[in-house]
Amino acid sequence: MPQFGGAVIAPSPCADYMRAMSSVRPWRDIERRQSRQIMVGNVPVGGGAPITVQTMTNTPTEDVGATIDQIRRCEDVGADIIRVSCPTAEATENFDQITRAANVPIVADIHFHYKRALEAADKGAACLRINPGNIGSSDRVAEVVRAAKANGCAIRIGVNAGSLEKDLLEKYGEPCPEALIESALDHIKLLQDHDFHEFKVAVKASDVFLAVAAYHGLAETVDCPLHLGITEAGGLIGGTVKSSIGMGSLLWAGIGDTIRVSLSAEPEQEVKVGFEMLKALGLRTRGVRVVSCPSCSRQGFDVIRTVEALEARLEHIKTPMSLSVLGCVVNGPGEARETDIGITGGGNGKHMVYLSGLTDHHVQSEDMLDHVVKLVEEKAAAIEAGTATAFDPHAEAAE
Ligand code: SF4
Repeated sequence: MPQFGGAVIAPSPCADYMRAMSSVRPWRDIERRQSRQIMVGNVPVGGGAPITVQTMTNTPTEDVGATIDQIRRCEDVGADIIRVSCPTAEATENFDQITRAANVPIVADIHFHYKRALEAADKGAACLRINPGNIGSSDRVAEVVRAAKANGCAIRIGVNAGSLEKDLLEKYGEPCPEALIESALDHIKLLQDHDFHEFKVAVKASDVFLAVAAYHGLAETVDCPLHLGITEAGGLIGGTVKSSIGMGSLLWAGIGDTIRVSLSAEPEQEVKVGFEMLKALGLRTRGVRVVSCPSCSRQGFDVIRTVEALEARLEHIKTPMSLSVLGCVVNGPGEARETDIGITGGGNGKHMVYLSGLTDHHVQSEDMLDHVVKLVEEKAAAIEAGTATAFDPHAEAAE
């Protein structure tokens, strides 16, 4: 087996993973890197499992009620795994109340205090985010590994360009892909030396180029699942763009088993952005995929306000389906042909409604919002009941 930075590494998983391009539209295919699967609680990560979306609470963990409320809001928008930091003994004291109340696995975020890891593992954490090289001694690593094994916890190694080990900074002169990868491999080796293999790894940086290069290098070197993130990406708009470029390019290259979008915004927003990223690449589906135009003077109704209102009113829909909202006939009919429900602006406040790609009936401006919401809710209910399927405009071609 190849060696890198002292760690024993499994053969590159990418080499023998290229399956035949059999889809009707091969330009849509993403060949995912084949990784080893681990379990984070009851959620599989890696090994072809759906790419999971994570976020992290920002309430004081000591405030159990506020933390559970925030977890619930994140669950409602689709978070698969939620991380909660454990900086103090007070934070882990009632951690079991949080892990019991959560409907998704909880990752305990630990930095230097390995005792917090032991406590969190005992109190129901499904995963510990801890870098074994940072906790002081081999004995302590052994203790953490023992606690993780005893409680069925996974471990997430989280290398961050902003907190690279001093010796690596001296060796490489600055945070660079090789330094991030070597740091990850050093941490990995510590876990492997203690016969622990239920780990996933992140090599995050706020610099998109650095993070992407580090993940590519790591993906070729290890077979464990990878947790993607562009760390400290920024606010809602800037951070979303940056994350989408960095994580989007990695996901498109087939790299990444679980993702966290790091935004200076509420955790629910991180989850929504994460899902939109996966939806855009066809890697996950959830809720209503909205196709809408930017609007222009041809619009037959106020597209921007309509889409804002529809997104808010349809947030509760979890069933994957599609809706097109176009201001006029220039592009409206073409987009509507591809969606479950379509609306295209017409003259005199009268707009065309499409169902499963076909023209169906008209609706007046004043009734439009309620009408579209009702159509979407009915279609979602029918899909859930098994009496309808989400519209697939390419189904015939695929047969
Ligand atoms: S679909 Fe019509 S209203 Fe919307 S941007 Fe295009 S031309 Fe303008």
